[in-house]
Amino acid sequence: MSVDFGALEKGSSIHIRRSNGRVHKAIVTQLQPSSASVTVEWFEDDETKGKEVTLEMIFELNPELASSNLKPTQTPAPGRPASREKESYRSFRKSKGTKRTEARQGGNRRTILPVPGSALRAQQKENRSPSPAYQPRRSVKNDAPASSRQSMSSNIPKPYDVDSKMSNANNNVNGNGSMMPPPKAPPRGRKSNVVDEVERLRRNREERRAAQVIERERRREFYDPNNANWEFAIMIKEFRATLDMKPLTAADPVLDHRICVCVRKRPLNKKEINRKEIDVTTIPSKNVVMVSEPKSKVDMTKYLENQTFRFDYSFDDTCTNEMVYWYTARPLVECIFDGGMATCFAYGQTGSGKTHTMGGDFTAGKSQDTRKGIYALAAQDVFHQLQKQTYRHLNLEVHASFFEIYSGKVFDLLNKKCRLRVLEDGRQQVQVVGLQERRVSTLDEVLQLIAEGTRCRTSGVTSANQHSSRSHAVFQLILRRSGPRQMLHGKFSLIDLAGNERGADTTSADRQTRVEGSEINKSLLALKECIRAMSQNKQHLPFRASKLTQVLRDSFIGERSRTCMIATISPGITSCEHTLNTLRYADRVKELAVEEGMEEPFKKKPAVGGGPLDRIEESPQQMNLNSPNNSDLALISSLCENEVSREMFEVHQTVSTLQEIEEETVESHRNFLHGVTAAMSQSANLFNMTEDVDFDPEDYVSKLKDQLRASNEEYQKLRNDLMEKLDTFQAALLEEEAVSRNMKNRKQNKH
Ligand code: ADP
Ligand code: MG
Repeated sequence: MSVDFGALEKGSSIHIRRSNGRVHKAIVTQLQPSSASVTVEWFEDDETKGKEVTLEMIFELNPELASSNLKPTQTPAPGRPASREKESYRSFRKSKGTKRTEARQGGNRRTILPVPGSALRAQQKENRSPSPAYQPRRSVKNDAPASSRQSMSSNIPKPYDVDSKMSNANNNVNGNGSMMPPPKAPPRGRKSNVVDEVERLRRNREERRAAQVIERERRREFYDPNNANWEFAIMIKEFRATLDMKPLTAADPVLDHRICVCVRKRPLNKKEINRKEIDVTTIPSKNVVMVSEPKSKVDMTKYLENQTFRFDYSFDDTCTNEMVYWYTARPLVECIFDGGMATCFAYGQTGSGKTHTMGGDFTAGKSQDTRKGIYALAAQDVFHQLQKQTYRHLNLEVHASFFEIYSGKVFDLLNKKCRLRVLEDGRQQVQVVGLQERRVSTLDEVLQLIAEGTRCRTSGVTSANQHSSRSHAVFQLILRRSGPRQMLHGKFSLIDLAGNERGADTTSADRQTRVEGSEINKSLLALKECIRAMSQNKQHLPFRASKLTQVLRDSFIGERSRTCMIATISPGITSCEHTLNTLRYADRVKELAVEEGMEEPFKKKPAVGGGPLDRIEESPQQMNLNSPNNSDLALISSLCENEVSREMFEVHQTVSTLQEIEEETVESHRNFLHGVTAAMSQSANLFNMTEDVDFDPEDYVSKLKDQLRASNEEYQKLRNDLMEKLDTFQAALLEEEAVSRNMKNRKQNKH
């Protein structure tokens, strides 16, 4: 049976009667032929509300909208609840879940969401004649089909103009910009059109004034002269109210990912709360994170640009370390028992929660509770697995090591920060020479070891973050077969990465800062590209581009290797840019593990780290391709050309060369010292001969002469080699300075 909706259509402004008898205006959002009703929405008490109303009720209150063949029935007495009129706020919220669905289905995208708070207001704003610079949004409507919602990236910002918004909410303009009721309204009998029109305008005026009063009250409630961002705070609050929040729960399944990328948001800390920072990140569901970026138009009108990212899991600020561990590192423990290599990285800006996640919770008091860190939680599980019947026959032992990589150099945290060499043999096997590996049998031993390493890492610095933000800390749990050869069975590397914002320090006045910045930037890019190569089972891994990837090389190869990245984000408005950079990076890692049916995430991204710089004409061939480091770097440069400028790679290349030459110089110095020491000890042996009772002077003379001649030759050789290396090192230092100056000049000229 067909239903006669009269002049009703989506977007019609109509009067409705609430269950308490109050009559007010609402917008039609859905026609429901099956139940001869419509869904309406209105904005009230900071919320968008909605309900389903029967046609019968509508035509009673809005007789002008009924077709002439429909007769309104008797109106119920005011204040009497209407029997079929249940205010279905919940079901409306469900339908608002379109944004959530869109985020889940759509991969990561930038959306200019409706003026926060309601489809109603979105629609009414849309109905205003748009300023020429701004296109009206269409796809934000609640009833837009999924396919059209997926193209929200083309939406253009709408200003958030609270006053005009509310006045417009009652302007009753329809989609064509003409006055309501819509032109389709049939002629009515009793009153003349003019009287009707005057009455309608009066009602509108009254409603508009009432709404303005409510809006003023609302603004007064939120207005905070000490917080420049108070308007954004309202917008975000209203935006969140439109989301159907379904966070991750412990009941959600743990999925089997070879490469898992997730995000963890920390809560605002006390300092941020005292500063009245607003939280711009929202985690509406178990795998989506949204960033509401505050923006202002040239006329200073404020609006939010919402960007949506999708990962394997997203942990909100209420998630504990145990929960994060359960979905991220825990599934990898089994992998090392099966003879695989596993890595788990915490990636993010300094202060975003990497150490809290990996090393342990600081919240209980000032000291870190290492029991609650992923390092210890993983160790606990390793000991637990060791007891299992399945693995008993392997006779496995657990060993642990802890080291840090700073500025391309490796330091042993279990051996007084002793500097270690990283060597690669002919079969590309990488070894950290002399790295201490301690056998551990209990969790307490592991905890002691973590405490020792952490103390060593932060000794001599005033704040824990001062040094740790510039270095990568690598904690390894190693399974070895017991026996004389102690064959390696599996390895779990848990890495607390350097703060990613440090990668931008490449133009600092201080060389050490420049070099460490370049190394961080380079190593994070190399890490991403190694995971990409891993996910695509590529033959060549550009692991030589950084010390971090070199040391972890084995973990990126082999079918049984698995990796997990936890991108940690700070929620505050002042971290917004860094948060977006972190999420874009993590998104590119995830992009590698595209699953079937998943929408391809946005491709071209603005440069991170180095900022938008001119591209210089230089082919990768100009880089020092003879050096394995630089050939991998050239490869990464070509893979990341949308993210990092050519100049930045020029800096990285120069720094890499400098680091290589430094290593060679140190190696040459080491050889020189060995040579001199060996000659001295031979000379000492001959000297000792003279003290023998049966000392043979002829033998002594000839041996000492031979030794002096030989050691002189050896000394000259070692000395010349060292001098040559020192000259090259000096030249490389000058070159690095020149490149840095150049980069700075280019940047200055640009500004
Ligand atoms: P990072 O290692 O990334 O520099 P930290 O782990 O040191 O950052 O965290 C910075 C501060 O934030 C610490 O005081 C820490 O206690 C706090 N913090 C980080 N993550 C959380 C969290 N999930 N819950 C509560 N506090 C956190
Ligand atoms: Mg840290």
